[in-house]
Amino acid sequence: MTLYKPPYLKLYEDGTLNKRLEALEEKLASCTVCPRSCKVNRLEGKHGFCLSGYKPYISSICDHHGEEPVLSGSNGSGTVFFGSCNLRCLYCQNWQISQERAFFKTSEMDFSEAAREIVRQQDEMGVHNINFVSPAHFVPQMVRIIYEAIPLGLHLPVVYNTNAYDALSSLKLLDGIVDIYLPDFKYSDDRNGVKYSRAPGYSIYARAALKEMYRQVGSLQSDENGLAYRGLLIRHLVLPNDLADTTQTLKWIAETLGKDVAVSLMSQYYPDHKAKDTPLLNRKINYTEYLAAENALKKAGLEDGFIQEMTAPETYRPDFYSKGHPFRKDGKSTVLPRSF
Ligand code: SF4
Repeated sequence: MTLYKPPYLKLYEDGTLNKRLEALEEKLASCTVCPRSCKVNRLEGKHGFCLSGYKPYISSICDHHGEEPVLSGSNGSGTVFFGSCNLRCLYCQNWQISQERAFFKTSEMDFSEAAREIVRQQDEMGVHNINFVSPAHFVPQMVRIIYEAIPLGLHLPVVYNTNAYDALSSLKLLDGIVDIYLPDFKYSDDRNGVKYSRAPGYSIYARAALKEMYRQVGSLQSDENGLAYRGLLIRHLVLPNDLADTTQTLKWIAETLGKDVAVSLMSQYYPDHKAKDTPLLNRKINYTEYLAAENALKKAGLEDGFIQEMTAPETYRPDFYSKGHPFRKDGKSTVLPRSF
């Protein structure tokens, strides 16, 4: 890890990062930051689908120990939780910060404060990367935070932890700024994307996004300590009643991107938020579904990645209303995906 120098440092030095930031912030004047293309002027505080203006909503910046081991390592992933979202998943486990409007205004943070805090995570907490969660509607803001953090000493790999409902035009401007792409791939059937996440054309946008991410960073690369510093790691959350179309989703990854692409197969689903009242979503996945997902992984021939135990739903339950760390109740989160 010590030898890896994130390319964003070079882009900062030669002025490219500043130009990229300008191009991204221009998109806010008639917002096309994500595929919804609301065309509202967020620089003047107007809101589109994501209910977000110029300043970012940030609920917490903390060391997170529940990510995949290549990201969490021993000291944690320096996680920046953005508020609001460009999706409306009925089962969102982060609904307190992604869908509760009352929270948004109270969580606005100055760029300089966010920049200082991520550098503090790096220098004082010893985190292994800076992990921006739900950035698809805050891409320009994320880059501004990075831009302000570099002169303060930021040098860790940047993780883009997204739902993959990303605009290709925004992703292209992140080439060389993001080191590790960590996208979900939620659905292969767009009817489910609309029904459960209000995301028309989800699979079309997500597939295009995943191809672009892979083009930029390639397969996941880790150092001698097993810590990732560059590459693509795709997450797939198994839903009850096969609503995430797991077989088709994994097959597409293997056939289109390659069998060496790292995949994190997640069994942590539990019926949170509005899912409790939604017939096909109102239970955890059962053992048969868990096994079927594992078999789909083998059948697709994917060779690298992580899988969670069936106990994951009991341990992965953030609480953003609690004071302090959203995951930590007794020291550390206990979700530890294992390699397959
Ligand atoms: S980022 Fe928000 S305002 Fe912009 S296009 Fe997406 S949902 Fe609309």
